[in-house]
Amino acid sequence: MVCNGEKTEAYLQCMDFLVTGEPFQLVKCCTCGFVFLNPRPEASDLTRYYLSEDYHSHTSAGFSPIQLIYRLVRKMNIRHKFKIVNRAVWGNTILDIGCGTGDLLAHFKRHRWKTFGVEPNEKARNHANEKNRVEVKYTLDDWNFQPDTLDVITLWHVLEHIPDARALMIRLSHLLHDDGKLFIALPNIASEDARIYKKHWAAYDLPRHLHHFSPSTFRLFVENAGWKISGIIPMKFDAYYISLLSEKHQSGKSDFLRAIKNGLHSNRRGRRNDQNYSSLIYMLQKKTSPKG
Ligand SMILES: [Zn+2]
Repeated sequence: MVCNGEKTEAYLQCMDFLVTGEPFQLVKCCTCGFVFLNPRPEASDLTRYYLSEDYHSHTSAGFSPIQLIYRLVRKMNIRHKFKIVNRAVWGNTILDIGCGTGDLLAHFKRHRWKTFGVEPNEKARNHANEKNRVEVKYTLDDWNFQPDTLDVITLWHVLEHIPDARALMIRLSHLLHDDGKLFIALPNIASEDARIYKKHWAAYDLPRHLHHFSPSTFRLFVENAGWKISGIIPMKFDAYYISLLSEKHQSGKSDFLRAIKNGLHSNRRGRRNDQNYSSLIYMLQKKTSPKG
């Protein structure tokens, strides 16, 4: 998907810790180093792996320590994301793909942005439409956008779930203004916490995460799809959250102290080099952008 290389080698054998416990294989492209799930479940079979009550993106209730931390981090993340976008873009229309329960869009709406959402999960979508009062549709097609109409498009930990990510990137380039910005948040396979936890690293999240980018393979991927990276911003809370989940995968319990220690370690390495942060927000612009 990233280059045209055909040869791959085995990278890591992991399992689905959240829903099925089934084993999965990650492979690495011998040409560009891109890591991906192979083989992957049939598209028709993928929904089966999203049935967990534990799938945090869509749960807003629950009082386990992980759920409480998740909600706290999400709240801080919303403000952080708003600030990043609002500072970088002159405009007021935003499309959030995979918007979940629409909390971020609701925050933008309160700041007078015109918001559009896409979310395949019905429960989350209903929550967004009814409780958060932001308009969210099932698919991108349901919106019927005109070309070059949006100022901002965001995918927060979403692209790694999308089977044909390249086709989506090309499609998005037609929807965005020439001087608009696309924000994509992704786990970072080159991060220090990925190195520490190996097959227990929670951000592998197989088989829901199909693509596993590092900053260098992501750069190659977007450049081949008509985009260029204009900024990279770390998501520092993710180091702690991912470490906590990974601890649970590794030992069966949520060891807070070890998670905090490893999260700190990951962020310290990140300060030396962006390549080491647990998750990164990439700010992209079209290659054809007049400001490019
Ligand atoms: Zn490749």
